[in-house]
Amino acid sequence: MSLKDKYDVVIVGSGPAGAGAAKALSGSGLETLIVERDKLPRYKMCSGIVFPSSRKFIEDHFGDLPKSLMCNPEIVKGNRVCAAIGSPIMDVPFSVFDEGDDLEEEGFNTWRAELDYWLCSETDAELVDNCRFDHFDRDGQDYVLKLRHLDQEVSVRAKYLIGADGTLSRVRRTAFPGFEKSVGLLPNYEEIYEGNIDLEPGWLYLFMDRSVTGYFATVFHKDDKVVVVTGVQQRESVKDYFAAFRNHLERDHGLVVKSEAARHGIVLTDMSARKNYCLGKDSLLLVGEAGGFLRGGEGITSSIISGNAAGEAVLESTKSGKPALEHFTDLASEEMETCNRVHANLSEAMGFNVFMRE
Ligand SMILES: Cc1cc2nc3c(=O)[nH]c(=O)nc-3n(C[C@H](O)[C@H](O)[C@H](O)COP(=O)(O)OP(=O)(O)OC[C@H]3O[C@@H](n4cnc5c(N)ncnc54)[C@H](O)[C@@H]3O)c2cc1C
Repeated sequence: MSLKDKYDVVIVGSGPAGAGAAKALSGSGLETLIVERDKLPRYKMCSGIVFPSSRKFIEDHFGDLPKSLMCNPEIVKGNRVCAAIGSPIMDVPFSVFDEGDDLEEEGFNTWRAELDYWLCSETDAELVDNCRFDHFDRDGQDYVLKLRHLDQEVSVRAKYLIGADGTLSRVRRTAFPGFEKSVGLLPNYEEIYEGNIDLEPGWLYLFMDRSVTGYFATVFHKDDKVVVVTGVQQRESVKDYFAAFRNHLERDHGLVVKSEAARHGIVLTDMSARKNYCLGKDSLLLVGEAGGFLRGGEGITSSIISGNAAGEAVLESTKSGKPALEHFTDLASEEMETCNRVHANLSEAMGFNVFMRE
C-alpha cells in the first residue's frame, strides 16, 4: 500500500491502544493512518485474556468478538493464585474485581495477533504494516514523521501524532529523551509447550513466590498448549528464574513437555505502578503502555480505553482549537485513577508492590 504525504492523524502501533484511538476517530472525516512496524497479523507476547472490562468496552464500541479470534478453552473464569510455594492455590474469579460496572463474570481467551488485527480492521483508519516509525521533526504545527516502509525511507506529515507503540515507545523516546531514566523495566520470558500439566484449563495461574519470579509467573492453556511465563526485576536473570519455575512445575504440578512450540521475550514497565505517566505534549499523545497505562496485569483494557480517550481528545481539539493534550489529560484521568487503584489494591492484597517488589 502506498502512503499519502499528509494525514490528519498518524497512530504509531496497531495494538489495542492504537485500535482504540482509531475507533474514536472513525466516522469523523479525519484522515487517519496506523503504522505498524511488524507484518500483520503480528505475534504479541500476552496471555490474551480479554478481561470482563475489556470485553464490555469492545462489545460496546466494536461489536461482538468473532469466534475465529478465540482459543480453546474459550472462557476464562479468573485467576488462581499461589502466594507461596507449598501454600494452597486460591480461586480469585474476575467477579471479585467487578466494581459494580455490571460486567460479565468471565473473560475470553484469544490470540493477540488475530484480536489486534480485527480491532484495527473494524476502524476507518488506513492500516500499513512493515512500516516502522523512526523519529519526527516539527514544521510549524505539523509533525513530519520519518518512517521505514518495506526498506524505503518515507516522510509523512500529520497534524496529530498518537504514540501507541508499547512499552519501549520510540515516539515517547523521541519526544521525551530524558524521561527514560525514570522508567523501570521488567523483562518477561515465555515458553509454549505441547504437553500436559495438572492444572485445570480456563484459569490463569499466578505464582508469586520469589524463588520462581521477580514479580509474578504464570501458567495458562491456549489451544491445547501450555504457556509458561515468568518476569523479573531489571537486573535479574529471567532465564534463571524461568528454569527454577519450570522445575517447580515439573516437580509439583506434573508438567510434562513433549516439545517446545515457541519462546518469546518482552518487557513491561513500572510506569503505572509508580504513577509515572507520560501523556505527551501539544498535539502528540501517548496511549496504552507507551503512556504508562496498565491495570496491573490487565493491559488490553487500559490500552484500548486510553487510546479511545486520545481519539476523543483529537476530536475535541479540532473543535476547541486547544492542544489535544489539554483534552486528553481530562479524558484519560479516570483510566489513570483506575490503574492507580488496581496497583494499590494489588499491593494491599500481597503486602508488596508486585511490579517493584517493594
Ligand atoms: C506476559 C504478559 C501477559 C499479558 N497478559 C495479558 C492479558 O491476558 N490480558 C490483558 O489485558 N493484558 C495482558 N498483558 C498486557 C498487555 O499485553 C499490554 O498491556 C497491551 O498489549 C498493551 O497494548 P498497547 O497497544 O499499548 O501496546 P502493544 O500491544 O505492545 O502494541 C504496540 C504496537 O506498536 C508496534 N510498534 C512498536 N514500535 C513501533 C515503531 N517504532 N513503529 C511502528 N510500530 C511500532 C508494535 O509492533 C506493536 O504492534 C500481558 C502482558 C504480558 C507481558
